[in-house]
Amino acid sequence: MEGQPAYRAKQIRDGVWRRNAKTSAEIHPLPVALRARLDRAFRVDTIAADEITISDRGLTEKMLHPLSDGALIESVLMHYPARGHGEDGRPEHRERYTLCISSQAGCAVGCPFCATGELGFGRDLETAEILDQVRHAARRLAPTVAGGHDAHLTNVVFMGMGEPLLNLDRVLEAVAALSDPQRFGLGARHVVVSTSGVVPGIRRLTQLNPQFTLAISLHAARDPLRDVLVPLNRRWPVAEVVAAARAHARVTGRRVSYEYVMISGVNDTDVDADALSALLRGDLAHVNLIPMNPVAHTPWQASSPERVTHFAARLREGGIGATVRRNRGQDAGAACGQLAADRAGEPPAPAVAHRREVIIRQSEVAMKGDRSGERLSADLEAAVAGQKADR
Ligand code: SAH
Ligand code: SF4
Repeated sequence: MEGQPAYRAKQIRDGVWRRNAKTSAEIHPLPVALRARLDRAFRVDTIAADEITISDRGLTEKMLHPLSDGALIESVLMHYPARGHGEDGRPEHRERYTLCISSQAGCAVGCPFCATGELGFGRDLETAEILDQVRHAARRLAPTVAGGHDAHLTNVVFMGMGEPLLNLDRVLEAVAALSDPQRFGLGARHVVVSTSGVVPGIRRLTQLNPQFTLAISLHAARDPLRDVLVPLNRRWPVAEVVAAARAHARVTGRRVSYEYVMISGVNDTDVDADALSALLRGDLAHVNLIPMNPVAHTPWQASSPERVTHFAARLREGGIGATVRRNRGQDAGAACGQLAADRAGEPPAPAVAHRREVIIRQSEVAMKGDRSGERLSADLEAAVAGQKADR
């Protein structure tokens, strides 16, 4: 702030990033006149938190954040207590608090198993709106510290609403603030950015050589099926996505993780497992298998636990590292975008019936091995228009 002593900048920075202040009044000890000036120039907090759903016996907290224009986004805080015993008596797996954050309100990609996809695209988030989700969660954890328990956020994953690589400038700014020791101070190595396969965005990241982990939402190794499950595949098919991810791993030396949501009878057969092994064989890669969270308005169900275990074993036999990820917050409807979808209200019955019909028709085409003749939705076409495949 102009005309202020230099230490004020540090006081404000510490108030915002260390104490996660909500208002200028919480930034101690600023003079009243300066607070008033700050309030005229800035909003210390850009998001609210008006619905918190707790599940998994208190280990998962899902927050719905209304933005200033009424758009709704979600973040999910997951607690992983320490477990296992190492030889030195310390836990093998340290306690973690992972926050899953949103990068857009809604999403244009429209994956049919995703509640956010059904909502459609709202808008890109501002950098501050991305970061304020993190500050909110850090503030919620703070009382635990006062209670004598050393709780702090250990990981941040861009796996909430939206496609981070279609809002990449802001996502990069947010990651820079998160990893800056003078600001949030979380190592970039504790950040994961997940994409449904925006190839030019992946290439741009590779050039920047970031420290965070890149996750690719694959969900199918064959184009006909992936055209249905991740409609962006009609623009950037599997081979291009995996080639970009492979180059990323080679250049950065960092392992790429692949997310694979398991849907019963759709993408969980032995043929799918073998196609996935063949696709990733020899790569610096790891597959996370995630049983589908039940969401409204799809004809699909999660694969059975036995099927998931079998699929993982088959991948390992094929030489691919695979982990089964237990999904969190199911009992609270905490799959990505579900709270916002509930708030948006039930769509009219004919719209729901039509959606199911489209999904079933497209899946049948895919099961026959044919590629989708469907075009991208208008929103998705607009969203990818600015991305040049050869950048
Ligand atoms: N748009 C990005 C990041 C947000 S989605 C992406 O798709 O990668 C984050 C993850 O949640 C993705 O892997 C997505 O496929 C997964 N997801 C969405 N709906 C789900 C559901 N119903 N069950 C399980 N995982 C789901
Ligand atoms: Fe968008 Fe990711 Fe949901 Fe697909 S899974 S609709 S890309 S948020």
